[in-house]
Amino acid sequence: MRYGIYGGSFDPVHYGHLLLAESGLCGAKLDRVIFVPTGVPPHKQHQKHLPGEIRAEMLESAIAGIEEFLVSRFEIERDPPSYTVETLRHFRSKLLDAELFLLVGADMYYDLPNWYCASEILQLAVPVGVHRPGYPPPHVEVLSGVTSSERLRIFRDYIVEMPLVDFSATKIRQNCSSGKSIRFQTPHVVENFIHSRHLYEEP
Ligand code: ATP
Repeated sequence: MRYGIYGGSFDPVHYGHLLLAESGLCGAKLDRVIFVPTGVPPHKQHQKHLPGEIRAEMLESAIAGIEEFLVSRFEIERDPPSYTVETLRHFRSKLLDAELFLLVGADMYYDLPNWYCASEILQLAVPVGVHRPGYPPPHVEVLSGVTSSERLRIFRDYIVEMPLVDFSATKIRQNCSSGKSIRFQTPHVVENFIHSRHLYEEP
């Protein structure tokens, strides 16, 4: 089985995330994508996110009924900060015969060499770099300092295109707090969840 591990804050999940997962699934010929909502990622420790359980519930409602998509609570149940390398070690030990892939948008792909234990991350999983509006296309050469040329050759086949949608969770949170519409940026069920609980509204 080929598993794509897809980490993010998902605060909240939106169609950009879902299209990225679908594009990774099809483009990298994966069998499953596991969404891993982060606890507190190292680069977002200054930001305040909704509790992990609420973000996981929104994700679960967004992907309900899609067999290939799963949600893991591994990171939200751990003490912060969340390091991707620990998540990959966890899945490596649980999914013994699986091939692991790491789904990342273009912005994150460029940042990968700076991640904690980047070389180990790239040994544990093949990064699947997905295009994102506003960023240059993911380019494997940015990883040349942290992995072997042999691995780089493999990674070349895992740059994936997706229908570009300029959505972000930040924009959705801003729209909610200023009373603007978030319709068609996230599944209807997530939109209802947000409105019924008054999430992201100004206090
Ligand atoms: P925030 O606005 O709160 O920073 P975000 O919308 O960027 O959040 P994250 O949860 O931080 O979403 O991102 C998780 C992953 O999804 C990252 O790899 C990011 O590159 C990717 N991603 C998020 N939005 C898009 C999008 N619209 N198109 C492509 N990739 C995306």
